[in-house]
Amino acid sequence: MTDQSTMDGWRTGGSQAHYKALVDSAAAAILVIDDQGIILDANPFTHTLLGYEQQQLIGQDVACLMPPEHRGKHGQYVENYLATGQPNVIGTGRRVNARHRDGRLIPIHLAVSEVWIDERREFIGIMSDLSALTHAQATVQHERNRLKTIIDAIGNPVFVRELGGQYALANRACLQAVGADHVSQLADAFGRALPDGMRDTLNALDHQLTVDGEPVHIDVTLRDGRTFKLAKTLIHHLAGEPYAIVTVAYDATPLLQAMQEAERANQAKSDFLSAMSHELRTPLNSVLGYAQLLLKSPTQMLADDQRQYVDHIHQSGRHLLALINDVLDLAKIEAGQTVLHLTWYPVSALINDAIQTLSPLAERQNVSLQNCLPTEQEGELYVDPTRFKQILINLLSNAVKYNHPQGRVWVDAHTHHDSLTMTVNDTGIGIADDQLDGLFEPFNRLVAEDSLIEGAGVGLAVTYQLVTQMQGEIRVASQQGKGSAFSVTFPYRAKPHSSEPLVAEASDANIRLTQPHRVLYIDQGSHQQRLVSDCFEDWPLLTLHHAHDFSLAEAMTHRLAPSLFIIHGNDLARMPAHWTCLVENKPLITLGAEGQAHCSAATPDIRLQQPVSSTALAAAIQSLLEDRE
Ligand code: ADP
Repeated sequence: MTDQSTMDGWRTGGSQAHYKALVDSAAAAILVIDDQGIILDANPFTHTLLGYEQQQLIGQDVACLMPPEHRGKHGQYVENYLATGQPNVIGTGRRVNARHRDGRLIPIHLAVSEVWIDERREFIGIMSDLSALTHAQATVQHERNRLKTIIDAIGNPVFVRELGGQYALANRACLQAVGADHVSQLADAFGRALPDGMRDTLNALDHQLTVDGEPVHIDVTLRDGRTFKLAKTLIHHLAGEPYAIVTVAYDATPLLQAMQEAERANQAKSDFLSAMSHELRTPLNSVLGYAQLLLKSPTQMLADDQRQYVDHIHQSGRHLLALINDVLDLAKIEAGQTVLHLTWYPVSALINDAIQTLSPLAERQNVSLQNCLPTEQEGELYVDPTRFKQILINLLSNAVKYNHPQGRVWVDAHTHHDSLTMTVNDTGIGIADDQLDGLFEPFNRLVAEDSLIEGAGVGLAVTYQLVTQMQGEIRVASQQGKGSAFSVTFPYRAKPHSSEPLVAEASDANIRLTQPHRVLYIDQGSHQQRLVSDCFEDWPLLTLHHAHDFSLAEAMTHRLAPSLFIIHGNDLARMPAHWTCLVENKPLITLGAEGQAHCSAATPDIRLQQPVSSTALAAAIQSLLEDRE
């Protein structure tokens, strides 16, 4: 370390040795020239920088180190300075090019100072190499140009605003979007384009962004009606300090217009659906109802062949109704009109229900149907029970339909963390690998197209949509000629320790009656129809008759003398006054959504909530009919 006395010695003593060491070791070329521009001395670095040995330079005109265009002017600069005292580079320093011995131009910083030695004027020129700096600056400029070209090529508006409020950059799309020619016009252009108050909102958002650093997203509708989605992000200096905000905008107007179009189309589809649902189901229910009436009429009324024809009408009508229900279901799901009631529901109840529903079909097809769930699988699934049952029935009925006589269908399940995967396995015809892609496409029946097996190719499409809407997953593994396994996965929780009555009640959907009964179900077109008729498939002693209006129901009541009425809540409100006598002394169950108000002349004995569960319906029927046996 140099102490103060040494420094003073340096300055005042003017130690030659010190100065020489300093000049010789300097990383800058140092030249001494006289007032004619003749080089008097040069330090060693001059060789490093410009390629000349000291001896080669001494006595030369300094102009030899200048680029050709400046050479002639050097004498002029010196003359000018000597005459006017106005310096050009003297005492100031500037960035110039020096000429290397091999002819290359080297960017340097030149600082010239004037010294007087024994009444002689001399100049000392210090040349620092700027090659690395110039190269770095050129690289930065190149990157900058490249970035600008890229940003300009982006079709979305992009602009950068410094935290002080100055707009620093805007791409072509941004200038075009607000009708500006240059970034300097951006503030005014925004002022014209933005609606009142929006500027303040954006400023507040920018401020918020600088405080918490979290990227901001906002939709902005301009005065002319266009809507842009903006994403704002903070830009930081290398040192980490934020200094500007970059905003990338996206013109969402066409998308929003398309969405409005789609919503309008969706609405039209919904209107069409509800009209079709009524227009198709109502007459079909009439056909089925009157066909049922004819079939139940006293034997002598119809000849045997006529009875057979009516039976055909009834069978085909039922098939058509199932098909219409499937197609309307699919259309409703696709239109986003399916309302799900997700709840925790016992697994065993769900599976038993579905298996019982499918047992008659399996028996007819000579296929065994087994529930292979371990008994301890007593937990609950988070699903819409009605829709889950629909899913399971679709999978089970396919497993039975696409099977061989003496084939097997079994349901098993395994849990993994918080989910349960339930698999419907069959030993049926299987599906070829190249067919799997089309499996969930609506109306695609794969190879079954040409078979006699009933179906419309809609069940799996509905199943897939329902599973997805319930946040579940569906997978299939199949081997042609060997069989298939369809798996669905849903959230699962183990059985709660407190024994909830629902579990005990829900696991028993059996009806223990000893005599046959007719049940008349009046429902003009609610979603419960299929569920209710599915439930009755399990109860051989009960026959369900369905009427879609009160006039048909009246005829059926007189002809069939039902033991029990089930009426949908919506229809109960429309019950004609004289019906009070018809239902008098007969048990009545009503179905309705929670909180649905029933106002009618007749008072139900039991009200069941929607969606109807087979266990609740079984319990209600059992309690109302067992006393009458
Ligand atoms: P559908 O049974 O009414 O034709 P789905 O949508 O339920 O319609 O099924 C689509 C097609 O997938 C069926 O037509 C059948 O070719 C095939 N498929 C579905 N399940 C099975 C299965 N378990 N085994 C073999 N093929 C099946």
